[in-house]
Amino acid sequence: MNDSDNTDFLLAIEDLTVSFDGFKAVDSLTLYVDQGELRVIIGPNGAGKTTVLDLISGKTKATNGSVRFKNKELTKMTEHKIVREGIGRKFQTPSIYEKLTVFENLEISYPWGRKVWGSLKFTRNQQVVSRIREVAQEIFLEDMLDMEAELLSHGQKQWLEIGMLLVSNPELIMLDEPVAGMTAKERDATVELLKKIAKTRSIIIIEHDMDFVAKIAERVTVLHLGKILKEGTMEEVQNDKTVMDVYLGH
Ligand code: ADP
Ligand code: MG
Repeated sequence: MNDSDNTDFLLAIEDLTVSFDGFKAVDSLTLYVDQGELRVIIGPNGAGKTTVLDLISGKTKATNGSVRFKNKELTKMTEHKIVREGIGRKFQTPSIYEKLTVFENLEISYPWGRKVWGSLKFTRNQQVVSRIREVAQEIFLEDMLDMEAELLSHGQKQWLEIGMLLVSNPELIMLDEPVAGMTAKERDATVELLKKIAKTRSIIIIEHDMDFVAKIAERVTVLHLGKILKEGTMEEVQNDKTVMDVYLGH
């Protein structure tokens, strides 16, 4: 790659394809995400949304094309390395440590904590503790730091997992259906949470809940059959005939 190929976008996905036994789950996808952008990806089941996140995070290897984060090519990197580059990803189902407290869950997510996973004996220095408190406040769990995670509501578990990403301060956070199973009140709180988070980093959210999307979306990308069907504001997307046909009409 020469310098003229450099981009100001935080994330530049170009011509990205993955083929499973000849079936292209993601098909020549080109998508750019700005610094500080909150991007929502919608689309019917099987559109390839989760696979896009799998490709960015290195869980699935691309058949073709490129994913660059701050101009660094990710497609040949390991998942672990991609996390260290500053990309955090939350899966659909919460994967927290049920038997640990909220504090401990956040603590083992701290970049230094990982090295000693298993012992949990590393020094709880002031820097770690203050970062954990900061994050706990952001995710509405500051009064529950000593509670075992299994006692949290489903929505609180989802927030805790977002918090576990925030602890290490990633520049890009990717969330797969973060409000699934949440109460209306929890969903509204999540809107506030994500808007706040988006002030200091970029977020890619995959979501089905159209009320939620309407409340949060700046730019919406509609995926269908592994390709972009439409990209624009929520209003533009909702008024698009092809989108109505394949997605909103169903
Ligand atoms: P979405 O998240 O939009 O519902 P997915 O990205 O999960 O869709 O899946 C897109 C398509 O790719 C589906 O048809 C799915 O069955 C297929 N797919 C996803 N991952 C794999 C895989 N590892 N192997 C084979 N097929 C897959
Ligand atoms: Mg999915």
